[in-house]
Amino acid sequence: MPADADFYALELLLDDQDRTLLHRVRAFMAKEVQPIINHYWTRARFPHELLPGLAELHIAGLPYAGYGCPGKSPLLDGMVAMELARTDPSIATFMGVHGGLAMGSIYLCGSEEQKRRWLPAMARMELLGAFGLTEPEVGSGASRGLATTARRDGDAWVLAGHKKWIGNASFADLTVIWARDVDDGQVKGFVVEAGTPGFATENLQDKIALRVVQNALITLEDVRIPEANRLQAATSFRDTAEVLRMTRAGVAWMAVGCARGAYEHALAYACEREQFGRPIGGFQLVQDLLVRMLGNITASACLCARLSQLQAAGLAADEHASLAKAFCTVRMRETVGWARELLGGNGILLEHHVGRFVADAEAIYSYEGTREINTLIVGRAITGLSAFV
Ligand code: FAD
Repeated sequence: MPADADFYALELLLDDQDRTLLHRVRAFMAKEVQPIINHYWTRARFPHELLPGLAELHIAGLPYAGYGCPGKSPLLDGMVAMELARTDPSIATFMGVHGGLAMGSIYLCGSEEQKRRWLPAMARMELLGAFGLTEPEVGSGASRGLATTARRDGDAWVLAGHKKWIGNASFADLTVIWARDVDDGQVKGFVVEAGTPGFATENLQDKIALRVVQNALITLEDVRIPEANRLQAATSFRDTAEVLRMTRAGVAWMAVGCARGAYEHALAYACEREQFGRPIGGFQLVQDLLVRMLGNITASACLCARLSQLQAAGLAADEHASLAKAFCTVRMRETVGWARELLGGNGILLEHHVGRFVADAEAIYSYEGTREINTLIVGRAITGLSAFV
């Protein structure tokens, strides 16, 4: 009997109600997403028909309290991200961008009025969000080098520049744009609503990972938005970093889900596939691969669970989220590679799913801070010495 990949029963850390929600998410992903996702992945299209079902799960903005949000624990939030990625990392990323980055920016950096204006409809997924920080020439160095500018003009702001890689932006109702105020040089957040003149998106083509996620190049050509759309509590990049600290923890959980999805497909395959007259799962070298994978997943999940507890206690610092993101994505990359190896040639056929996890892992490895950047954040914290430049 194949073992459950939640080997140390982390689900038992949840109360019954939260576990029920997690299982509802699992059932939705298995029934609605698993059968269709390869079709969309190959065509690089987003399955918009899943939106009502995802909205019904009521998981957008899961950890935020008030404003129509569920107000659940960081642990449940992380486990849900893991659960989504376990079936499909693209859907997990879509939800991470909408519920984590976009709603999180408004939740952490918006005024009371702004939270009341946007969050309830976003929690119901009637309004979809995107988060625009990265630029064509500025990725890891976003804290210092943003070239997109914001210029105050009376009761309005004028935004100009480009953003790259922005998930959901081509169909989102609102995109949070981070831009440098030309007056004080500080990074500030602005909510740009779809259809605002001068705001244009173009989806990036031919990605080899997370093909279901629509990542856009955004052009901001003197986009005029009211002061009411400037996130009132975002006064410097420190505030942007606070959003990233929260969402990075979610990405670490997603890495666990991506690894777990690949492992579970590999385990099922190992028990079924026969060579030399017996299931390959009965060979010592195959068991060695499976146990190494399970070790990676279990260690990563335990680390993430503790990070979630630190978040709940208000004790999670940048370096805690960064260590989890760096560690779990390295372990994920190793794990999906082993899963692919275990499937032999079938490992590169999309119909066996593992190939999709292998490809998608490459994007999770790089976004929300590369391994190098997260390593530098932890390195700075433990030595007191910054090695960034
Ligand atoms: P670069 O910053 O150019 O880095 C290239 C390499 O140099 C990396 O290996 C990096 O680690 C290394 N490097 C850079 N600086 C240092 C240093 N000081 N020391 C050592 N090594 C260094 N962004 C958004 O704003 N919104 C989104 O919705 C979004 N979605 C994304 C979805 C996908 C699929 C991908 C791939 C990216 C997404 N991004 C998004 C952007 C993502 O966050 C960036 O790709 C990431 O921050 C890295 O930036 P970069 O790609 O420009 O790489």
